[in-house]
Amino acid sequence: MLRGPIAEISLSALLNNLKTIKSIVRDRHIIPVVKADAYGHGSIEISRLLLKHGVEYLAVAFTGEARILRESGINCQIIVLFDRDACECIELNLIPVIHSIEAAHEFSREARKRNAQINVHVKIDTGMGRLGLTGEHIMDGLLTISKMPGIKVTGIISHFSEADLKDRTFALQQLNKFISIRDMLSSNLNRYIFSYIANSAAVMSFPEAYLDAVRPGIMLYGYSPLSYDIPADDQKFYDKLIPVMSVKTKILNLRNVPAGTPISYGRTFTTKRKSKIGVIPLGYADGFNRLFSNNAEVLVRGRRVPVVGRVCMDMTMIDVTEIKDIKEEDEVVIIGSQGQEKITAYELAERANTITYEILTSLGSRARRIYV
Ligand SMILES: *Cc1c(COP(=O)(O)O)cnc(C)c1O
Repeated sequence: MLRGPIAEISLSALLNNLKTIKSIVRDRHIIPVVKADAYGHGSIEISRLLLKHGVEYLAVAFTGEARILRESGINCQIIVLFDRDACECIELNLIPVIHSIEAAHEFSREARKRNAQINVHVKIDTGMGRLGLTGEHIMDGLLTISKMPGIKVTGIISHFSEADLKDRTFALQQLNKFISIRDMLSSNLNRYIFSYIANSAAVMSFPEAYLDAVRPGIMLYGYSPLSYDIPADDQKFYDKLIPVMSVKTKILNLRNVPAGTPISYGRTFTTKRKSKIGVIPLGYADGFNRLFSNNAEVLVRGRRVPVVGRVCMDMTMIDVTEIKDIKEEDEVVIIGSQGQEKITAYELAERANTITYEILTSLGSRARRIYV
């Protein structure tokens, strides 16, 4: 039998989340973000299901991720958010997001070399401080790029830095800047420019930002990105999201030890009573953060039990003294439900002082995945 964690990916939960997003944004395009192997959920399977249900575009970070999709037969429009490999973009028929005039020159040169004409989207930095045209010369830059042979600017894109906050002042400034650039560009070029800026946080809380399309990632996978408690009357969307990933493993070994037994590296935990310790084949190499040492719970037989001692590379110890009839090979839930109990990526993120995104990408990408 294969060891190590299993990530159970629920396609019905994914579909539920897609429908929830559709009910919020209505006729806007939904561009699911499937970068980082669909946040650890498996980009091929996730993309296939989404495409079966009306999605027309996907977004990835790098051309390598798009290649994996193309090679598995996915031929929808794929937007490449961060790469600048013009050859790959042309060969794979991708829509690159261009971040600078220099990069635009490269795309133009490559396209002319092949006698090709490629559609590109241009990134505008409205306040994220990461990538995109910025400063006072954004319009000049856009017009310069628009005139380059071999490429056609069909869209503009920007990204919010804090649409997850309750105070939307800065997000609104970003949106207004973006809209004014779009309006200037489309009047200059005398044509419609596809524009999009909304991530999950904006989908959940900022309808003015929907524009032509939204680009949700984390919401699709069943988690709210908002960093504040949602007011009761806004709970309707939030409640409808269902986590797509459960992570499970099985007890590898059980041992009965006397009081005073140190557990794991550094002896950070010593049993205070006669104890039963379970060893599970899951460690930080599987994305179970070392910060969970003495600082997380897992589910066994429908009950919460604590992680004891340091998380190792491939192993973690849990205290199962209180669980009657426990046996080796019993299922252990890291994320997901068992009986009445539930552990979410929110809980783990809080314990490791990080965000659900990092929990899902680390645990999900290293587990063996099964689709249910
Ligand atoms: C990752 C990413 C998204 C999706 O963000 P979520 O918070 O997961 O919805 C959207 N746009 C860009 C540019 C991104 O990098």
